[in-house]
Amino acid sequence: MKKSPAEILAGLRDHVDFLEEAGAGFVVARARKGPPGDAGSRSGPNTSKAPPAPPPTASAPEHRAAAESLPAGPDNRTPAEIESQVRACRLCRLHKLRTNAVPGEGDWSAELMFIGEGPGRDEDLQGRPFVGRAGQLLRKIIAAMEFREDEVYITNVVKCRPPENRVPCRDEAETCWPYLARQIELIHPKVIVTLGKTPTEYFVPGRAAMGDLRGKFGDYKGIPLMPTFHPSYLIRNEGNREIRRMVWEDMQKVMALLGKK
Ligand code: URA
Repeated sequence: MKKSPAEILAGLRDHVDFLEEAGAGFVVARARKGPPGDAGSRSGPNTSKAPPAPPPTASAPEHRAAAESLPAGPDNRTPAEIESQVRACRLCRLHKLRTNAVPGEGDWSAELMFIGEGPGRDEDLQGRPFVGRAGQLLRKIIAAMEFREDEVYITNVVKCRPPENRVPCRDEAETCWPYLARQIELIHPKVIVTLGKTPTEYFVPGRAAMGDLRGKFGDYKGIPLMPTFHPSYLIRNEGNREIRRMVWEDMQKVMALLGKK
């Protein structure tokens, strides 16, 4: 059967992801500029697929829309307020195509927080993070780490599904940032795990490959941050036991920090 342009682009993206995550850094510079099929590239200059900027500080947001989503004074928003603001958010183009926004779910006092890229089709339909195939795998990993799902907090860099599951554009991630910043501030986890290169690049600026970043604790405002591969990367490379072993090794470091082993 003939593939649609969207399917061809999704396949290309998978392939580039695979090369990047496998450490082929040379792909990064070429692949991440102005992707074809990027809905954002049709609506303004600030829409390249370059990695999102490092988190703007809450007091000095760089992006106008980010500033718009912040309260005027100190950020005192409660969990319930964040959730309802996310569900009603119209600050970037992604809201136009969503079925549901996906704020995140779990324990607002969690020791452990997982941050993914953005909702996919299943998440958009259900309004919950990580409920599709990758989500089921993430939830197995959480169980293997001896946590119940309701003991951790799971969310994403962007709260609405990017079309065709493309990587969120820089301005979309920046616009959504104050929600994630406040979520982290409220939860104040003992460890953050970033899943895959989109959330990792957001917290660990630079162009290092996931293969180099994973397994080493970084820091976000004093909170240890562990980058690891995204569960969908594990699924795409199902037969590769080495990648599974690496993810498990990373999670064991997290467990050790949390006194789980
Ligand atoms: N992938 C993500 O990064 N987030 C989800 O919520 C689901 C799949």
